[in-house]
This record gives sequence, structure tokens and C-alpha cells, in this order.
Amino acid sequence: MPYTFELGPIRPPSEAYSILIRVTRNCPWNKCAFCHTYKDQAFSRRPVSDVIADIDAIYTIARRILDTAEKSITIHTLQKAKGNDDTPLYYYEQVAFWLQYGMKSVFLQDANSLVLSPKDLCTILSHIKNRFPTVERITSYARALTISKKTREDLHAIRQAGLTRLHIGMESGSDTVLSLVNKGGTQAQLIDAGQKAVEAGFDVSYYYMPGLGGKEYMEENAIQSAIVINNVNPTFVRLRSTVPIPGTPLYEMMEHGTWTPLSEIEKVNEIRLFIEHLQGITSILTSDHMMNLLEDVEGIFPHDKDRMLAIIDDFLAMSKEDQEKFIIGRRVGIYRYLNDYYPNFKIDQLYYSIKQQYGNVDKAVLEILKNFI
Ligand code: SF4
Repeated sequence: MPYTFELGPIRPPSEAYSILIRVTRNCPWNKCAFCHTYKDQAFSRRPVSDVIADIDAIYTIARRILDTAEKSITIHTLQKAKGNDDTPLYYYEQVAFWLQYGMKSVFLQDANSLVLSPKDLCTILSHIKNRFPTVERITSYARALTISKKTREDLHAIRQAGLTRLHIGMESGSDTVLSLVNKGGTQAQLIDAGQKAVEAGFDVSYYYMPGLGGKEYMEENAIQSAIVINNVNPTFVRLRSTVPIPGTPLYEMMEHGTWTPLSEIEKVNEIRLFIEHLQGITSILTSDHMMNLLEDVEGIFPHDKDRMLAIIDDFLAMSKEDQEKFIIGRRVGIYRYLNDYYPNFKIDQLYYSIKQQYGNVDKAVLEILKNFI
């Protein structure tokens, strides 16, 4: 009998060292105008018995690897541990990677595990904890609206059963923008959900999408989003700069002229406005995604607020040509941080050829970023 387990398409970058356990398939909402991840995929809850079987398969593979490994885990270890069973080696590789990082974290897929009944979710969480006592963190994506509808008692029970961190897509705190992109919730619900999750003891990650309101609602997107964060004080605020993806309603809105994307420089201005309005919080702000231009804008509030603003101001004080050269270098992988910027013949050549081909840098950047998604 092969020891396989089902895997969904995505996880947050911060879950790179987690084992993935799929408890639902796809997204029960699936209507956000900017999102393409589960497009045309029907949502379903996986039977609890199937999820338990997956956890047991991971356990069996982990046991076999640990029983076989001598000093280190090599491909030879995995082949030997697998022996004659029909499991594709891929599953052994997934578990081996997790073993090498100490089997400390688990991520529940897909888009909103909290739609499961508290009883089913707690059964799954308890089984993970029983099978893998080394696990310190179990994490999931969760929709604010779903959390908002849960009772405080249910959230406490889920937290006590072992779910420790929730990744919540706020995206925007503006009711206008939320409605524009069909997010299906309001600022009041975002605040209520966040406060309930924090009160239940979860580490909460709130995602904010600079640029989601387009040029039309840039200021509102920044300021209203900051209001949500100030009221929730999540553990993490994660920046996800908006990039319109072909095939999404947002992309169509752009084509029809009803939503105007921000340039890279405008997105930096929006992030500045957002950070400027954050107050009274102790959250960690991260730029842990390639879509963000200034990866160095990271820190802990309130201590690092001025430093983060100073990095942004350094960028905004550069000449337009230097800004655009940095943008190109960052997008093609030559620069990572603003401090990495230096005059570079290769970038100069690229800059002039992009100007010639696209007319402006932002058009070229949109093309490059589409390929990252
Ligand atoms: S809730 Fe999340 S996964 Fe679902 S459509 Fe919206 S952004 Fe995509």
C-alpha cells in the first residue's frame, strides 16, 4: 500500500519548513477579483478519516526514514526506507525535508480551514499533536468572515486543540475597496474577527495589499487598512503589493479602465502612508514576498517605525532615473535591498532598452511580475 498524502497548491512563504496537510480543497468563497489561485476549482471538505489517513502516512514515512537514517538523511536513506512499497519517492522527500528542519511546524491547507466544524478541526489537530509531539506550531489560512461567525468558545477550543497561527487576508480595510474587489466582508468584520482571534490566543497574521484600491482609492486603502491593524494589533502585518493577474476580474477592470494600477513608486508612497498611520501596536511588519519592491521595509512596532519610514524616504529621495533603475534591477534579481543599489552597466543597458520597447518602466515591470505569480 502506498503511503501518500494529498497536497494543495499553495502555502505562505513563512511556512516553507512546514509539512502541509490538506483538510479542505480550494476556497469556499473563490470570488475575490484579484485572486486566481483556485479559479474554476470546486470547494470541498475532505472527510476527516482521509485527513487522519494522510497524517498516518506522514507518520509511517517519518518513522521509516528515522529508523533507516544513520548520520544524515540522503537519497540513499530514502530509497532504503521506502524499500519495496509503492509510494512515489516524492512523498519520502517531502517528509525528509520536514524532518531535517526538526518537524516543528504544520500548515493546514487550503484557503480557509476554519470552515470545518470545530469538532472535526479539533479531531485533526489532536491527531497531529499525538503523532508528532515535536510540533510547536500549526497554522492555517482563515477568512475573517468565517472567524467572525465563530463563537468565542469555539475559537478557544480550536486554539487549545493546537492551532496556533492564523493567516488572514485583510487585503484592504476600506469598505469601498473591499466591495470593489468583492472580498465579501467589511472593515467592522475584519476588526471583529481579528480581535476575537487575538483574544482566543492565536498568533494572527494580517495581509495588506498596497495598490488594491488602484489610483482611485490609494489614500483610502492605506488609511482604512491602518485603522483595522490599529484596532487588532495582530502579531504580523504582511505586505502583498497588488499585481493584476491576467484572467482575473481585476485585470479585466484594468483593461476596461475602471481600475488603474499604481506604479511601483506609487505603491511605495501608499506603504509609507499606511505605516505612518499605524499607531499603538506592537506588530511585526514583514515584506516577505517578491511582489514588494522594498524588501528591507521590515521591523517591529513601535521601535522600528521611524527606521522603516526612513528606508522609504531614502528611496523616494532618489532621482526618478535611479528609482527606475533600482526597480528594474530588483525585478530581474540583481538587487534585493535598497542598499544593494549601485551604478551598473548591465542595468543601464536594460533600462534604455526597456524604455525603448515599452515606453515606460511600469509596463515592463507588470510583464515581469506576471511571470512571478
Ligand atoms: S478568500 Fe483568499 S483564496 Fe479565496 S478567492 Fe479570496 S483571496 Fe482567493
